Formats: sequence, structure tokens, C-alpha cells
Amino acid sequence: MPNKKTPVKKPTAKPASSEGGVTTASASSKKAAQPLQVVRGMRDLLPGDQPYWRQTNAIAEKLASAYGYERIDTPIVEDTALFVRGVGRATDIVEKELYSWETLGGESLSLRPEGTASVLRSYIQHGMLNMPQPVRLWYKGPMFRHDRPQSGRFRQFYQAGYEVIGDADPVIDAQLIILGYNFLKGLGIETTVRINSLGTPESRANYKNALVAYFRSKKAKLSEEDKKRLLKNPLRLLDSKDPAIVELKAEAPQIVDWLDEESKAHFMRVLEFLDEVGVPYQLDPYLVRGLDYYTKTVFEWYANSDDQELSQSALGGGGRYDGLAELLGGRPTPAAGMSLGLDRIVSRMKEKNPPSQDHRMPQVDVFLAQLGEMGRKRALALFEEFREAGIPVGEAFSKANIKAQMEIANKRGAKWAIVIGQKEVLDGTVQLRDMDAGSQEIVDVKKAVHEIKKKLANRNGVDTSSVTV
Ligand code: AMP
Repeated sequence: MPNKKTPVKKPTAKPASSEGGVTTASASSKKAAQPLQVVRGMRDLLPGDQPYWRQTNAIAEKLASAYGYERIDTPIVEDTALFVRGVGRATDIVEKELYSWETLGGESLSLRPEGTASVLRSYIQHGMLNMPQPVRLWYKGPMFRHDRPQSGRFRQFYQAGYEVIGDADPVIDAQLIILGYNFLKGLGIETTVRINSLGTPESRANYKNALVAYFRSKKAKLSEEDKKRLLKNPLRLLDSKDPAIVELKAEAPQIVDWLDEESKAHFMRVLEFLDEVGVPYQLDPYLVRGLDYYTKTVFEWYANSDDQELSQSALGGGGRYDGLAELLGGRPTPAAGMSLGLDRIVSRMKEKNPPSQDHRMPQVDVFLAQLGEMGRKRALALFEEFREAGIPVGEAFSKANIKAQMEIANKRGAKWAIVIGQKEVLDGTVQLRDMDAGSQEIVDVKKAVHEIKKKLANRNGVDTSSVTV
């Protein structure tokens, strides 16, 4: 497909200027340089945030392995056509939110706004159809949407996603929902999944006609934006927040009444499986999701909360997309998947368990303090021995003052300090201090690591027995 024809706006492709691109020496010398800021809608995940992210990453990986998923990493940049075909030309994501640009070679490329289209492209490209089906793949990484930045909405955000390709059975949809529920529960977030069925493309087309007819009859009450939606993507009217639409929706035809028999039966089976496992769900006849590729089951998780804003902001979502492989040029392949919005999940975790205000330095068992240049060189080498032995070790080699070094040793929670000065280097020894007892002994430098290992083993032995008392 010729890339140049893809009708995608270029929200970010401005020519390089002295502001955004190369700054000349004369331009910069006229004005004091302003500190540069992170790009609007994007943010730094600082060290204080990392424990929360580590926890989400750990559970993503643990559940992937428990449910039999293999990891896949696709590039962040793809051919724009992948998203135009896969996600849908008339979706907000493609029409308004894609970060796209044209390369010098004339290709139209885009930052991925979601993961499913890329995973399916990869499945087709690498002939995974020939592997035992279904193929279960999971991913985790940044996604990009040029959305209006607001609470819980970023232009770079992170998703963990799970895709099951090559199986049409409703138990697949149910198990994805169960996985997502357990993911959130494992992080202390109680949720309810909202669920709906969009049926087959045929039943959906019939429903669309009924919906268009209904909203046409109410055209006078629609905003200009909603009138455009009615023409281009009428299902999107159902998740409009516009009060006029919310009111009109109550009388609008519901998709369940238009489902074909097979989609209806599929939907019932999914619900039965969820009942069996006791996963709470809520039927939502207006849930349509923002991407074109869904067929049959669609779902989204929402935190159980009295807070209006929280209960309106999905933590993740997914559904069945039996037609996507064909749209991307592959053979017809049933599939289902879901993704979890890690940024929103982390902010829920932070609300429940706020980060401590004091900055705690990473804790170590041993601290190497040094006096004079000879002592510093010996300590530098000894540090490597401890590191290789896997013993958490701290240092402040750029500091000469022993008192300052000992203060850092305390902040880092070291149980022992090893002090090396010129005398110790000449004698081939080190001073080994017990930081709690204040006692001190001289140890052969060659035995320093061994001695600490012994003490650690003793300490752990003592700790275990004190726990059982
Ligand atoms: P979607 O496929 O658009 O439903 O996205 C799945 C999940 O990703 C959503 O439920 C959100 O939790 C998260 N998400 C989507 N867009 C954004 C965004 N712009 N900023 C932060 N999280 C997002």
C-alpha cells in the first residue's frame, strides 16, 4: 500500500527551528538558556515511582508465565498503514492521535498507539500460524497517542498486553478477563469488568443502521461534533459524555437485540465461565471501545470506587478481534486480547499506598571507607571482590573525610564498615568495624570477603531463630 496516501495528520512534524531543533551558537548566546522541560503530556518515572512499576512488571510477568504466554517485543515504530488498516481510519486514535511523520525516503511511519496490531502483524509475518494454536503472546511497553493531556491521560503511556491468536472459543475471552481481574487484584485494586458483545460485522452493521436511524431522528439535539460522528463512526456516539447524548442513549436501540444467534451464544458462554470463577462483571450495552477491530466480546475494567472520576476511567480493556488478521493481509484467524493501562494502575497503587516522604538510599551490608590515595586504590579493588561475591556493598570513594564516609555508611544501613588507610595497605590488612557494637578487629585483606560472608551467615542464622522464638 503506498504510504503517501495514508490520510494521517502530522501533529508533531514541524520543521526544526531554533526552539525545537538545532540552536545556533549566536541564537543561544543572546538569551540565557531556559531549562528545558519534558514534552507536554509525557513525564519522567522517577526513582521514587520505580517500586510501583517494579511491582506491576513483576505481576505482569508472573501471570504471563502462569497462563502460558510467551513474551514478544515489537518495534515502537511501524508503517502508518498498519494502524490505519488495523485500528481503523475513522477512529480517534488514527484520525487525531497518531504521531506520524514522513521519512526522507518517503515512508509514512508512526509511533505505535497500541500493541495488538503490531503483535498480529508479527504473527502473520513470522508464520506463527504454523505453530500449535492458539499462540499466546504478551508484551509490555510504551504507547503514544497525541491525546489532550489530562488526569490519567498521557501522550506516552505504558501498557501490558496479552493476546491469544488462533482460537475462537469463548473460554479464551473469559480467561483473558480472569487474568486481568487477577492482575489488578494482585496489586490491591478491586475491580468490576464491564462487558458487552458487538456481534459479527454483519450484525454490527445492522445495528449501526438502526442506531443511525434513531439518532438522525434526534438530529436537532446533536452537537456539530456528534453529527460528524453519526456520519463517520456512529457507535462512538454511545461512549460520548455529552449530556444530550447520554439522555438520548437511554431510548436508543441496544446491540444485544441485534446480535446474531452465534454471537449471542458466544456471549452467554463467556458470562457462564465468569460466573463459574466468580469474577464480578456488569453488562454494559453501550460499551463499544475506541478501536474498529473488535467483534463479539468487548470488556473494560473499572476500579470499584465511589469516586466519580475513578469509576469513569478504565484501567484496561480488550475483546475479540476475529477479523483483524484478514484486515492486515493474513488468513482469517480468530483472536482475542486485552491490555492494561499501567500508568493508571500505578496511580491507584500510589493512592492506596503513598510513597514515603524520606528518600531512603539503597541499603547495603558492608561499607568500604578509605583514607589516603593508597587506601582508596585498595578499597576500589576490594569493592569489586565484594560485588562479584554478591554481597551488597557501599562506598563513597570521592570523599576523603572519614567522618563523612561513616555518616553515609549509617544512612545506607551498613552492618559492617571496612576501613583501609596507608598502614593497612602496607600491612596487607583491613580494619573491620561492627557498626552496632562499635567493636573493631584487624583482618587479612585477602580474607575480608570470606570473613563478611561468615558474619552474614551467622547473622542470618540468628535472625531465623529469633523469628521462630
Ligand atoms: P484502550 O485500548 O484505548 O482501551 O487502552 C487500554 C488501556 O490503556 C486504557 O484502559 C487505559 O488504562 C490505558 N490508556 C489508554 N490511553 C491512555 C492514555 N492516553 N494515557 C494513559 N493511559 C491510557
